[in-house]
Amino acid sequence: MEETAEIKKVTCTVCPRGCQMTVTRKGGEITVEGATCARGRAYGREEMLDPKRMITTTVRVDPAIAGDFLLPVRSRTPVPKKLLIAVAEECRKTVLSRRVRIGEVVIPDVLGCGVDMVATADVPEE
Ligand code: SF4
Repeated sequence: MEETAEIKKVTCTVCPRGCQMTVTRKGGEITVEGATCARGRAYGREEMLDPKRMITTTVRVDPAIAGDFLLPVRSRTPVPKKLLIAVAEECRKTVLSRRVRIGEVVIPDVLGCGVDMVATADVPEE
């Protein structure tokens, strides 16, 4: 029986050129059409095998430290797409018990995926 191919249309986000790519997986083989450089081909392969996205959300801070302030955070690097909801939930459950400054790690190695969540603002002084 002939194996069916999985086909994804992907816009490369590695550089502003935004090449339109067609990524095909058939059997164990992946082909990337439309990429004009090696970085784009690698991105196309990743989009087929383990797509990743940046995530931005907020983390609560102990009200004794900063009232009802919600601290904006983002992933330092892209997170596997399949973990995005779980990472958002982990951030939602977190209550920070210390003051942090912009760029500081708020949740290291979130869910063991190797990516830190970092603050994108300072926790204000009361
Ligand atoms: S394939 Fe290469 S040139 Fe095209 S958008 Fe991606 S990185 Fe840029």
